[in-house]
Amino acid sequence: MKTLRFIYSNGLSDCHKTKALLVRSREGGFVTRNCLRCGKPGYVGPHHLPNLECEFCGGPLVVKLLDKNYCYICGKCDRQWELPSLLPHWTELFQYSGLLAPGDGSFT
Ligand SMILES: [Zn+2]
Ligand SMILES: [Zn+2]
Repeated sequence: MKTLRFIYSNGLSDCHKTKALLVRSREGGFVTRNCLRCGKPGYVGPHHLPNLECEFCGGPLVVKLLDKNYCYICGKCDRQWELPSLLPHWTELFQYSGLLAPGDGSFT
């Protein structure tokens, strides 16, 4: 089962001091946090990962680094999710939401 989520990173983007969204930047599972204003990717550290709850039991998930990928792990029901598998690819994301539209408003 795969549920794509929009997950905001903790902390603001370096370039615009605005919210940043966690996305898969490449196949292979590399995760970045992309600025909502300009889409510029930034490095993701453990402190950027927000607390999430298990979708099955509602318990808090613990973040661990497994095989160079961050994993969210539920100690209660023993489930785990690789972070990249939860996230949309950034091109999908910006297509869906139209977030990356610096010229918006000038098309009328
Ligand atoms: Zn920016
Ligand atoms: Zn659980």
